[in-house]
Amino acid sequence: MRILLANDDGFHAPGLWPLYEALLPLGDVWVCAPEREQSARSHALTMHKPLRARERKPQCYAISGTPADCVYLGLHGLLKDRPDVIVSGVNRGANLGNDVLYSGTVAAAMEGALHGIPAVAVSLHFDWTQEVETLHFDEAARIGAQVTRQVLEHGLPHRRLLNVNVPNRPHVEGLRVVPLGERLYDVLADHRTDPRGRPYWWIGGAPQGFAGGEESDGAVCEEGFATITPLSADLTDHDELQRVRAWFS
Ligand code: MN
Repeated sequence: MRILLANDDGFHAPGLWPLYEALLPLGDVWVCAPEREQSARSHALTMHKPLRARERKPQCYAISGTPADCVYLGLHGLLKDRPDVIVSGVNRGANLGNDVLYSGTVAAAMEGALHGIPAVAVSLHFDWTQEVETLHFDEAARIGAQVTRQVLEHGLPHRRLLNVNVPNRPHVEGLRVVPLGERLYDVLADHRTDPRGRPYWWIGGAPQGFAGGEESDGAVCEEGFATITPLSADLTDHDELQRVRAWFS
């Protein structure tokens, strides 16, 4: 089996290499990761400047682009043969509920799905006050490899991926397959002044828990379970098709 591993935290991020190690027993692993952090870049592609890919070790490339660039370039430029699965992560931070729309980690997996390759995104859910040294990336990597093994065995339908979130603990309670919920954040646009007297802004506030019910991903992950949510590239709201059609008939 051939595996393409990407992330959005960058080539030197602490979550990438435990997942690399965990995937090695499953097959031939290639890495295409951004040379710098690209979190919250979603599905951006670099189309107006060149991309550089530097092979830092055999089959492992640091790329001067976004997570989606990395997978695109891996599939169509760097790998000799088509991979059987795309894996993205382990992200330093959860991608629960509506996070998936902003996530570079999920976008890297989605880029694989758009090219017809089944994909898995893996993220570690922790409290942002926790130090990096206390993060259990090894456990998240173990779960990520376990899910990847199932995807390789069973496959996924066209343009689908599995979004996996793992709570930060040495041993998770188990795995649960659940829908996305809603992740709540403080809404913030903080207006400040720089040392030269010019105004600037910071957007985005602290996480404020979850909505969407006890059986949705955020609530279940908070209980200590790794969550798995199948996602589709088709964002069509099929329930609304008839209602909106009626407006124009
Ligand atoms: Mn990230």
